[in-house]
This record gives sequence, structure tokens and C-alpha cells, in this order.
Amino acid sequence: MATGAKHGIEKFVLYQPRLEELSDVLQKGLKENFADVHVSVADCPDLTKDPFGFPVKGICGKPRIADVGGVPYLIPVAKLDKIYDINTVARDTDLPGAFILGAGAASSRTLGINAELMPLVHTEHEGKPAVNGSYVARISPTDGGCLLEKYSEKYHDCDFGLLGNLYVSEGKPGKVLEIRASRRIGQFSLVTAIRKSLENHYGDKPVAMGGTFIIEKGKAKAHIMPAEFSACPLNTEEEVNNWLKHFEMEAPLICQSVLVSRDPGFDLRVEHTHFFSHHGEGGHYYTDTTPDIVEYVGYFLPAEFLYRIDRPVETHKIGRD
Ligand code: ZN
Repeated sequence: MATGAKHGIEKFVLYQPRLEELSDVLQKGLKENFADVHVSVADCPDLTKDPFGFPVKGICGKPRIADVGGVPYLIPVAKLDKIYDINTVARDTDLPGAFILGAGAASSRTLGINAELMPLVHTEHEGKPAVNGSYVARISPTDGGCLLEKYSEKYHDCDFGLLGNLYVSEGKPGKVLEIRASRRIGQFSLVTAIRKSLENHYGDKPVAMGGTFIIEKGKAKAHIMPAEFSACPLNTEEEVNNWLKHFEMEAPLICQSVLVSRDPGFDLRVEHTHFFSHHGEGGHYYTDTTPDIVEYVGYFLPAEFLYRIDRPVETHKIGRD
């Protein structure tokens, strides 16, 4: 990857149900968590348009997910040499030129600090340079609030650091699962509710999905990692939460999400969602904080393959919310 080091790549064939079947499974499952649910098979909206503004039209074509690095490279002590190139991830997942979205950490080598990355990259292919539509959210050094920027306005690589949960596709238009859910009645976030619905139905057959959703109304609980890596090792969930900066952010928020119903034994982060907005807010999504009024609409596809790239040898379960 960017460091020149050759990382281990493990490939796994996921269970990939038909869209019509998934639509039924999620329609039933999400009803336990939301008062209003409508799941259907629909055309992917043109994602080059507002509010998405992606570099490609859709999330279709050879869908796969990649779990790169991991939280053990961030905590207890950050391993700053863990830098990856999204173009390399496209090649490593056997889809050079892919469109890649998801959630990760920014490269501290590029930024000089730690920050949240919202990858949205149409990767380089056949001499054509990458189009990097990513966003980056950092803690503002002046007021301690969120500072959201378009990555390409300052930086010219496609790197990220430490960890990334990525959805990889040809970026084409096509049929997707459209998920509409509003008025939350259960305890789960949208992403966790999708994941639990899949796990309840498919059991030990791992089903993974990736895509994008909008929180159209309400607010979301979020975090942004501090600009400075922790000076002392972060050894517990509580220490990690005290280090992170927590926010409540306002809709509309455009979220990129990767989830897998169950870890088939690759030390995965089973869900990870980052969002950006057009009003200066962005970060890591936990859930909405306004169950009575929240409204979600999202577009997802099940992935055919999982790629586990540069899996940490020494691992733990802290900090995976
Ligand atoms: Zn995150």
C-alpha cells in the first residue's frame, strides 16, 4: 500500500441474498425498531446530484466490502505508520477503478493531525486519475467544534490511516434496496437494526451490505477523534470515550455505511458509518437522538465478497461502537 509494505489480504465469499428477499426480511425486521418502514427494490438515485454529490452515479456493479487495518492500530497506542491508499484497496479487492465509500481515519501523515475521514473515491484506472470526493472532519483548533472540509480542497492523495470500513463497487446505476424508516420505537440505530434483522434471519450465514443513507429529520449522536493522538495508552472503553469528542449534529446528514450481519472469524468491525453534511457538520454516527421525529432514507446493496486487509495480529474488542 502507500507505505510500500505488502499487507496480508484474506478473501471470503459472503452470503448474498436476492434483493427481493432482502427487502422482505428488512421490511419485517425493521418494523421492530421503527413505527414506519418501507423497504423496496428501486433504482439507485443519481448520486452525482444533491445532496450526495458523489463522483459516480450509483453503488452498483460487483459489490464487495473491505475491512482494512482496525481499531487495534488506533488504541491503546496509535501506529502512525499504518497508512493505506484507497487506489490500492481497489486493486486489492480485484476491482481497479472502483468507486469506494465508507468510514475511516484520515492519514495523519497527510493532515499532520488525527481526523475522521468520509471516503468517496472513484479510484484511478487505465491512466485516468482518481476523483476524490471525500470529506474530512476534525476538531477545530479555535473553538473545539467540528471543522468539515472537502478533502480535495487541501490534499491530493487518496490515503487514509489506521482503519477503514469500505464498500467497493463499479459505481454504476442500477437496482438497489431502498430503505425508508421513521419514528424510532426500538433501541437500535438504523444500521444496527439492519444488521440485527439480517442476523436474526440468516443466522451464521454472513450477509454484508454497504451504501448511503440520509438522516432527513432530527439529530444524531456523533463523535470526532481529537486532533492529537492520546498521550497515554487508552486501555478501556471509558478511556476511549473520554478521549473522543462527542456531538449532537443536525439533519440533513449524508451517511456512508458498511455493515456485516455476523463476523465469520476475521476480527471485523461489524458496522461503521461516517457522515458529512452541507452545513459544516460531519463525523462518526452512533444513532439518532430524536426518535419521535427521525426520518431515514437509504440505498444499499449486499456484497458478494469480504476482503480483510492487514488484519491486526494483536487485537482487542475496545472502541468498536
Ligand atoms: Zn468512525
